[in-house]
Amino acid sequence: LVRNDQNRAILVQLTPYGIGQYLIVTRDVTQLEKLETTRKDFVANVSHELRTPLTVLVGFLETLQSIPAEHIEPEQREHYLNLMIDQAQRMQAIVADLLTLSTLESSPSVSGEPVNMAEIIHTALNQARILSKDQHVFVENIADDLYIQGNASELASAVSNLLTNAVRYTPKDGTITVSWYLTESGRAHYSVQDTGIGVAAQDIPRLTERFYRVDRGRSRATGGTGLGLAITKHVAMRHNAELTINSRLGAGSLFTLAFPPSRLVVPSSQ
Ligand code: ADP
Repeated sequence: LVRNDQNRAILVQLTPYGIGQYLIVTRDVTQLEKLETTRKDFVANVSHELRTPLTVLVGFLETLQSIPAEHIEPEQREHYLNLMIDQAQRMQAIVADLLTLSTLESSPSVSGEPVNMAEIIHTALNQARILSKDQHVFVENIADDLYIQGNASELASAVSNLLTNAVRYTPKDGTITVSWYLTESGRAHYSVQDTGIGVAAQDIPRLTERFYRVDRGRSRATGGTGLGLAITKHVAMRHNAELTINSRLGAGSLFTLAFPPSRLVVPSSQ
């Protein structure tokens, strides 16, 4: 394996070809090499993400085991059990999101059936309002008759991921504005705008990478698996939609899912 002056990985093979002659076969394996690096990084990330809660879980189990039953107060036991349940649920969430991602990756696009996006958005809004304690969640405009040809549960997870993130990354008294509407260019936009912590320009392109988080501690503390936007991006791709992210550090973010006219279902055909 050699590298050429453009830093591409070239595999060179020498094959005997007649007497005293050789055939040199070269193959550009840069892309393969990149894929292999991505795969290795992914395995390393998954191991790390699962190892952390597992270490805490084993630690508490060992502590509980080392204390004789008659020496532990019921409240203390309860406290340990709650902490262990949190860690186990964390692992459960990571594994569930990983499974979702791998299912999404296994087929390129969905044909599906007409999905009532307004209904999905209202359900997600109700959940977000329960989750949000001190932020204001507003609805700007929800078009009731704008359906999307697609997969309802995938669309529901994309819709709620963006909304949950807005709640997670917007401090107390911040504002979250949700809308679903037809644009002048005939595309349907689902957008979630927040006045939250925002993201620096250099981090924006990386947000949809698996396990990429700007602030690991904050994301974990709010229950994030680091996979939500990777899932959302895949759902978008499978519906020929585009996920765009506009954000300013300290000012807030605007996440938009834009569906092409070919995915819209006109009211008369519902
Ligand atoms: P997580 O489970 O960590 O929220 P996501 O894939 O949903 O994982 O998001 C990846 C990262 O993108 C988050 O950890 C956070 O740093 C950043 N992010 C996502 N949504 C927002 C938002 N609305 N405002 C600020 N940062 C955000």
